[in-house]
Amino acid sequence: MIREYTKAKRCHRRGRVRGCQQPIAGQCQYCARGFCADHGDVFGDHEEVCDRDPCQAKKADLSHHHAFLGVARARNEAGRCGMPDCDTDHASFCERCGPRYCIVHLQETVVMALHHGERGADVLRLCVHCLVRLEVWAEE
Ligand SMILES: [Zn+2]
Ligand SMILES: [Zn+2]
Ligand SMILES: [Zn+2]
Ligand SMILES: [Zn+2]
Repeated sequence: MIREYTKAKRCHRRGRVRGCQQPIAGQCQYCARGFCADHGDVFGDHEEVCDRDPCQAKKADLSHHHAFLGVARARNEAGRCGMPDCDTDHASFCERCGPRYCIVHLQETVVMALHHGERGADVLRLCVHCLVRLEVWAEE
């Protein structure tokens, strides 16, 4: 779910008595919480990620994902399934990440998605790599 983006005024870190009082340094691009210089990262080209575990997991997942896609596309060009260490011919493409995989590494999966603002179920053909990623992105 996309959170409504309102400008954060304070760090997300809540203490037992009062929250973190340091000046705000950024606002998380995944959960929209504000953070100070100690409780989040501002890096690269306007990337802002807080230090909460679900958001750090998303950040790690994306860099891993981009590396994975490069490998998968190169393997497809050689006529093989995109999954590392799989020597089977590819059969079809993953509807989420794009590269082609063999039937063992693809699975029809029900995912929840927004259609014109309404929540509904979609059946997508996903690779096993994307199946694992769904769990990371389901966490708020
Ligand atoms: Zn966050
Ligand atoms: Zn803080
Ligand atoms: Zn995929
Ligand atoms: Zn395969």
